[in-house]
Amino acid sequence: MIMTGPLNGTFAPNTGRWVVCSKSPYTGIWGESNCGSWFGAELKKAGYDGIIITGASENPVYLEIKDDKIQLKDANFLWGRGTFYTTEKLKEIFGDEKAKVACIGQAGENLVKYANIISEQRAAGRTGMGAILGSKKLKAILVRGTKIKLEVTNQEDLRKAIITARDYVKSSFASQILGALGTSGALDMYNMTGELPIKYFSQPQWDGATKISGATMAETILVKNRFCHSCVIGCGRLVAVKDGIYKTDEIEGPEYETIVSYGALNLNDNLEWIVHINKKCFDYGIDTISSGGIISCLTYHFEQGNITTDDLDGLKPEWGNIKIVEEILDKIVFKEGIGKVLAEGSNALAKKFNISEEEIATVNKLEVTYHDLRSNYGMAIAYGIGLKGPSHNLLDAYYVLVGVPLEEIGIKLIDKYLDNEDMAEFCSLLMDYRALYSSMIMCSFCNPLPSHNAELLKHALGIEFGLEEIKLYGERIATIKRLFNIKMGLTPIDDRLPSILMKPFSSGGSAGKSPDFEKLKKFFYNYRDWEINTGKPSKAKLKYLGLDNL
Ligand code: SF4
Repeated sequence: MIMTGPLNGTFAPNTGRWVVCSKSPYTGIWGESNCGSWFGAELKKAGYDGIIITGASENPVYLEIKDDKIQLKDANFLWGRGTFYTTEKLKEIFGDEKAKVACIGQAGENLVKYANIISEQRAAGRTGMGAILGSKKLKAILVRGTKIKLEVTNQEDLRKAIITARDYVKSSFASQILGALGTSGALDMYNMTGELPIKYFSQPQWDGATKISGATMAETILVKNRFCHSCVIGCGRLVAVKDGIYKTDEIEGPEYETIVSYGALNLNDNLEWIVHINKKCFDYGIDTISSGGIISCLTYHFEQGNITTDDLDGLKPEWGNIKIVEEILDKIVFKEGIGKVLAEGSNALAKKFNISEEEIATVNKLEVTYHDLRSNYGMAIAYGIGLKGPSHNLLDAYYVLVGVPLEEIGIKLIDKYLDNEDMAEFCSLLMDYRALYSSMIMCSFCNPLPSHNAELLKHALGIEFGLEEIKLYGERIATIKRLFNIKMGLTPIDDRLPSILMKPFSSGGSAGKSPDFEKLKKFFYNYRDWEINTGKPSKAKLKYLGLDNL
């Protein structure tokens, strides 16, 4: 399912995004990947809330949508090509630069389990949605909308609500930092506080952090901000490397997760190379979080002696060796040699070399994202009990606890080192609120007051919408995803964290800290009214949510 949200196209702040959902080929549970750019707004303009794709083609095809004219066309000439060529060629053939394209690269074609979908240098990055399109031999979707005027219930009241929400968001400190320094603006701070994962989660601090931070990017290669449709923040970075071997024209720069994945996690402090590898990942259509994490995992276990050079086609991974990292990435995308195993993920690597899963930084087979939970215990729930596996967006405790005001719906700022009832309540309420966001498809960096969002939804949709509905609908959405995962076989045993993420450091900003996850999990289940033995929502809870038919 490729969906837009109910506010998409209205210019309500940061709602121009779109989302791809499917059962994940990587995790086997709910897969969901949210993307920026302008594709979603174009789809809405063409007259569609979304596209549901069933079945598969025998030969490569692309989907062309111009208003109400929809055609599947031959894409043999694009098969084997990267996303940059594919996007340019399709626009050229269509003859209208204003068309928007979402497509896969070689990673999706080759069914790399964490392949993604790229649109206008933005990624629907996680849980392998590119492999889903690859399995259907659907190379690309091109969309152009020219006719539809969006209908909302109360145009004038919606306009006022949009202005209120936009002004509020624009004036916030978080928005201004994100605009000025991008998503990696806090990287130096995370290095100090212990939130920055380094050397596959095994090192508490690192001298190289400043060289790859958002501030350094702003001072060296930043050209200007990039904005998704209707965004009032502009965390996107248009960068250019003027000379040297990584010289590139203006291109979307790496965001925080990529900078950590291919930087701190692999002990590489060459920012220009990270721009280069980010561009390569865009072209291949491969998730930077998983791919960089898997290569770091390989280096870590090679260093530990769990894997030898003979196992790796003669390769000798070493920290900070960017040449080898790039070579391994190429092998993954084309499934050559060890790349065949790595294309299946970190857990496949563990299985192949008899490494304990306790030493692999994944949950439900998905690589965790890059906010070290030893420095923020809320991330223990985000990773251990995430609705699509570990996610920094669907439960962004790391962001909200810096000071995002959501008290209107009971989300209070608490000490980030709690593993008690208060943290369970905080995480539960935030999980529900972000579940509503994932349905509104509002960017989680954008935080008008919850009452602002209620007003936006009320005037757009013409239904009564207040703070109670914000909480109720959010919990309902989160619960449906949980039920889906249970149907796919998820049990309480899968709500876990590997010990590599939990070992306390003896120095650094989080020295001596680590949450008691099992204790926190019990509080969390209890707060959500999930049964301890089965992990299922109780019958009473389902009835309350109007989901007793499930
Ligand atoms: S804040 Fe960044 S990710 Fe969010 S909508 Fe704006 S540009 Fe896109």
